Amino acid sequence: VPDSPDAVLEGLDPEQREVATALHGPVCVLAGAGTGKTRAITHRIAYGVRAGILPPASVLAVTFTNRAAGEMRGRLRQLGAGGVQARTFHSAALRQLQYFWPKAVGGELPRLLERKVQLVAEAAARCRIRLDRSELRDVTGEIEWAKVTQTVPEEYPAAVAKSSREAPRDPAEISRVYGLYEQLKRERSAIDFEDVLLLTVGILQERPDIADTVRRQYQHFVVDEYQDVSPLQQRLLELWLGERDSICVVGDASQTIYSFTGATPDHLLNFRVRHPDATVVKLVRDYRSTPQVVHLANGLLAQAKGRTAEHRLELVSQRDAGPEPAYTEYADEPAEAEGVARRIRELMDAGVPASEIAVLYRVNAQSEVYEQALADAGVPYQLRGAERFFERPEVREAGLALRGAARAGGNDTLLADAVDLPSQVRAVLGGTGWAPQPPAGSGAVRDRWESLAALVRLAEDFARARPQAELSDFVAELDERANAQHAPTVEGVTLASLHAAKGLEWDAVFLVGLTDGTLPITYAKTDEQIEEERRLLYVGVTRARRHLSLSWALSRSPGGRGSRRPSRFLAGLRPGSPAGGGRAGGAGGVERGPGRSRRRRGPVRCRVCGRTLTDAGEIKLMRCEGCPSDIDEGLYERLREWRAAQARQLGQPAYC
Ligand code: ATP
Ligand code: MG
Repeated sequence: VPDSPDAVLEGLDPEQREVATALHGPVCVLAGAGTGKTRAITHRIAYGVRAGILPPASVLAVTFTNRAAGEMRGRLRQLGAGGVQARTFHSAALRQLQYFWPKAVGGELPRLLERKVQLVAEAAARCRIRLDRSELRDVTGEIEWAKVTQTVPEEYPAAVAKSSREAPRDPAEISRVYGLYEQLKRERSAIDFEDVLLLTVGILQERPDIADTVRRQYQHFVVDEYQDVSPLQQRLLELWLGERDSICVVGDASQTIYSFTGATPDHLLNFRVRHPDATVVKLVRDYRSTPQVVHLANGLLAQAKGRTAEHRLELVSQRDAGPEPAYTEYADEPAEAEGVARRIRELMDAGVPASEIAVLYRVNAQSEVYEQALADAGVPYQLRGAERFFERPEVREAGLALRGAARAGGNDTLLADAVDLPSQVRAVLGGTGWAPQPPAGSGAVRDRWESLAALVRLAEDFARARPQAELSDFVAELDERANAQHAPTVEGVTLASLHAAKGLEWDAVFLVGLTDGTLPITYAKTDEQIEEERRLLYVGVTRARRHLSLSWALSRSPGGRGSRRPSRFLAGLRPGSPAGGGRAGGAGGVERGPGRSRRRRGPVRCRVCGRTLTDAGEIKLMRCEGCPSDIDEGLYERLREWRAAQARQLGQPAYC
């Protein structure tokens, strides 16, 4: 713990100090990635508290994720400023709601709805609308979206038509289900996740006495990642603040990546208009990344267009030189995944901890091939912000359907012309509502389609490798893959979507699948959508401290047509590419990645560390002698339950 308030300022540069010591009036920090925004506001709070200017209980710091909030609280404690509230908008609102509900409404705060999907199902049934399981999830997602955008049931059809979303059902039907869901929820005196913000805003608006109480408690506000604030969150912030102006916001317009959910950088960019006397600080020194990584990040931003691009800030790296970013082109996706896994192994062998390595991709469905490649290479990994591929509900359901079809010998379920394995798989998935053509738009519907499309690709690869294989062989293959995707226990390599990587950093970052069609994603059509995709790449690049690898594959599967192109965003940046401003790093060039090695199949791996096991006793336990046994049993529990349910459905005795 620093021994004085001034000691809290040590380790900050002059601009960061300006932020940390500007304790009165509105403050806005506009700065690029890695410039120490999060660090500056954390030290600002600590300095204010230690100097006796900000009473700890009067400060509310709002961050984007629970993880970020937890990290900030930990850091504040280390700086001698425990007791400050650092929360997400949601958790701060819930806490307040619990406190003033008895006075505002009477009685206890209604319970939080645990099984929202069940209530949506009930509402749909009462409306005489039949929804299968996946439609149910989609409709639930639509209701959530409607609520965060403050769209009431009657307005839903018009609102969805105006948005770039694809309604999973007739919007009029969704509107009816939404309306009845709200009614049922009221009747059962429950509230859902979205209600927490809506109700807090509503009560603060209608009850000036309660708003006064909250404002007496919280007098100083700090908001991180302000470029992605939603309209509802902004409203809440204004209500908290009232007529006062002790607010400090930090953000980077170039990292706006959630505008598809209604978030907007306008509040950040117009902060000065709203608060003409604001202290505005710009940070340009990048403390996170090497000059090589920063050079690429700057190059990317130099090509950006549109409103956020007008506010871009050139970053200046403060670190020593590191390796050039590596650009690698592979023939196909499995070769790319294998190549990436091999490089990760090399880094780990050279002493980089697995927890300091991340593989980042555009959509979660891309994770499968990396999960497999890392499992094959014996590298522990963890998924952030997504379920493991084989644990996703749609993949489990598809697995069940495939198993049923395999048992039935493929006869009754399959469309007569479905002869080859991939066609059989497509036919079975077709029976669960999947179509070979991707749905338009983004969101949950699209994500699910991508997951099942990944299963079809697996079937195609499998059939190519084993032309005689039958559906039952493929099902066995899926089982084997599901087993090999062991749960990590030690902090492993992070696999995450670019969206989930926001605010985080690693020594080594692998940006994979950088083809046109994946980044930018095919459904990004308008200029604005394309620019948001470019910003996603910027967020990805700037997560790396030292090692940065960018790769892509010319075709999806081995022997494919090779018709893919590297992401258009890399034009002019990757060495040797035509057009655009300047070369990325000079030396090096685009490397040609090796093809895929012959697949070795079948080793039993330790389910804790992933090491291949040879000892008979260890194989039986599926665990190394030295690895702990009491880890993440929950996962295995869930796996066992799933297997038992499958077995019941198929009328087989449970195994495992
Ligand atoms: P992002 O936009 O990605 O959220 P950020 O601007 O919030 O980035 P931080 O995460 O606060 O940046 O800081 C990036 C890294 O640089 C962290 O590892 C942080 O500890 C380090 N850092 C920030 N400021 C300094 C400094 N003055 N001296 C040394 N290291 C610093
Ligand atoms: Mg940050």
